[in-house]
Amino acid sequence: MTDNLKLLLQKTSIVSYLEENNHRPVKVLTGGKLSYRCPFPDHQERKPSFMVYTNSDYENFHCYGCGRGYNIIHLISGMEQIPYRDVLKRISDKLNLNISESTLATVDEVMKYCVTPTKESEQLEQSLL
Ligand SMILES: [Zn+2]
Repeated sequence: MTDNLKLLLQKTSIVSYLEENNHRPVKVLTGGKLSYRCPFPDHQERKPSFMVYTNSDYENFHCYGCGRGYNIIHLISGMEQIPYRDVLKRISDKLNLNISESTLATVDEVMKYCVTPTKESEQLEQSLL
């Protein structure tokens, strides 16, 4: 079942989801990185401190302004103010992927698929803004 969660993340795109919600990248950087203004409703800002990483196994994001991050589940949950479980259900139904009840019920599984930025990458990104 965990494999299906990974597959789900690989088949969904943060960039496409943002575009569907009228958020376009401010800058396209090298290494498959794109910067945006933070799309979370409670983070108002002018600087494009929201980074999307497209060149790993599945897309990840990190906002250097409000510190939120990780995968598409976290993004949709934060932007639409709905629980992880409902986001997972919606995407898995759309993709026809079977996600077990136990996975749906826990946030731990979702959190496993996070790429947390290191101090070095954080400093590097900050210098690019
Ligand atoms: Zn933010």
